[in-house]
Amino acid sequence: MYPLLQKVLDSEPSATQGSPAFRLSPAEALDILKKAPWTEVVEAADHVRQQRLPGNRVGYTAFRIVNYTNVCEVTCSFCSFCRPERSPEAYVLSLDEIRQKTIEAKAKGADHIFLQGGVNRNIPLTYYTDVLKMLTQEMGVKVRGFSPVELVRIAEFNSISLDKLLDIFKEAGLSSVPGAGAEILSDRMREFLSPRKLSAQEWCNAMAACHKKGLPGSANIVFGSIETPEEIIEHLEYVRKTQDIARNAGAAGFKSFVVWTFQPQTDKFPIRHVRGDEYLKLLALSRLYLDNIDHIEVSLLGMGLSLGELGLHAGADDINSIVIEENVLTNHGLTSIEAAESFIKNAGFVPYRRSLNFD
Ligand code: SF4
Repeated sequence: MYPLLQKVLDSEPSATQGSPAFRLSPAEALDILKKAPWTEVVEAADHVRQQRLPGNRVGYTAFRIVNYTNVCEVTCSFCSFCRPERSPEAYVLSLDEIRQKTIEAKAKGADHIFLQGGVNRNIPLTYYTDVLKMLTQEMGVKVRGFSPVELVRIAEFNSISLDKLLDIFKEAGLSSVPGAGAEILSDRMREFLSPRKLSAQEWCNAMAACHKKGLPGSANIVFGSIETPEEIIEHLEYVRKTQDIARNAGAAGFKSFVVWTFQPQTDKFPIRHVRGDEYLKLLALSRLYLDNIDHIEVSLLGMGLSLGELGLHAGADDINSIVIEENVLTNHGLTSIEAAESFIKNAGFVPYRRSLNFD
């Protein structure tokens, strides 16, 4: 076994013994990413996952993504979803349209709505609170919503602090926030992806503010462009530090971490092919490096079912699906509860249904 991986394994406690004594440094993680055989990283991550989360269980959830507007002024170079305000294709969903989508989602077994839009300065604050109240109070679903850049800009457009906005949204029913829009937390890459998005530190600060307000969520990485191995480790370090702040303050913080790859959307943005072994190695390294995040999710939507199955033997303990609607990506995922359960069983695990907050 690669010496640094053996060091992790030797220090790994059982589920009841608390944190491992040895934590990988960024330099050590970079060494593993660049030099360790991927099969050994996968083996070590599987061992750590079994130690921390015994019982062979794999989680899934059932939710519908509702993209409430496609108007966005951030214009990320990889995004094919956003439209300028005056585009004939621009839209903002009405409350009735969101209600109808929720009724359809509930009929298919979903109990969560994932609200995500563009950054649209013309939407009044009352729209968001009306949508949140309608979904939670009238429809009885839980809501995860709004990426850090949406939250920061909504606060700015309404001349209130982010803390105040989070109080308002929480009061209206928001129960968690996705760590969307992280892509690669390195300022060189963020300049390339979207100069109008939040910087790496601003993204972390916004997530830390959500955690402090009792809004847990997830974090992710999206790779497979021109990022360097150093930038991948920089990303993992930003996430781990943000989670340390949450944990030290007694907050749940990030409940899970998801490893995505960029999907082809525009020809303005270079995407390279991510090999299966490369994906599994990063998934496994995420399990080893993020010792303060309980759950690692494999991306069935992006990577497909076969690689997803292998991911469950490479440190992941969750498949995230089923997703009932996804406007941005081609859906390689699962679309029914039966399909999710049988996928997990066929992979050799015991399925359990969870909420978006892993309650
Ligand atoms: S990825 Fe999100 S923030 Fe970026 S342009 Fe598209 S909708 Fe806007």
